[in-house]
Amino acid sequence: MKCFKCAKGKMVPAITGMTATVRREQIPVRAEAMLCNRCGFQVMTDAQSDAYTIASADAYRTKHGLLTTKELKQIRQRLGMSFRTFARHLKVSEASPKRWEAGLVQDRAMDQLIRLKSDLAIARENVTYLEAHLGAPPPHHALR
Ligand SMILES: [Zn+2]
Repeated sequence: MKCFKCAKGKMVPAITGMTATVRREQIPVRAEAMLCNRCGFQVMTDAQSDAYTIASADAYRTKHGLLTTKELKQIRQRLGMSFRTFARHLKVSEASPKRWEAGLVQDRAMDQLIRLKSDLAIARENVTYLEAHLGAPPPHHALR
C-alpha cells in the first residue's frame, strides 16, 4: 500500500503510541496502525480501528477498575450464554453486551450488576451482607 499523503513512501504496520479520549478522559494507548515509512503519515484499517477502540476502552477500564472486554467475554462464556441470553440475564437490551465487548465502556453500576449476577463469590458476599442487615431469611416453607 502506497502512502496517500506523500505518494512515495510505503504504508507498513507498526505499533504506535496514541492518545484516546474515553469518557472525556485522555488515555495513552499503544495500538497497531499503518505508518508511512517515509513521511510518518498514519492510517488505520477497519480491523486496526476496531482493535484500537477495544484497547482504548480497556485502558480506561483498567484504570478505573472496570471489567475489560476480555473479562466480559470470559464471564459470558463461562456461563455458557449467548449475547441474547446474557442480556436477558441482566435485563438489558441484546445490543448492550455486544457493544461492551466491542469496546463501549459499561458504566460502574452495570459493571457491579454484571459481577453480582455472574460471580458466585460476589453474589454470596452480597447475600451475607444482606443477612447481616436484614436478618437471615425464614426457611423456605414458611413463605407458603
Ligand atoms: Zn508518506
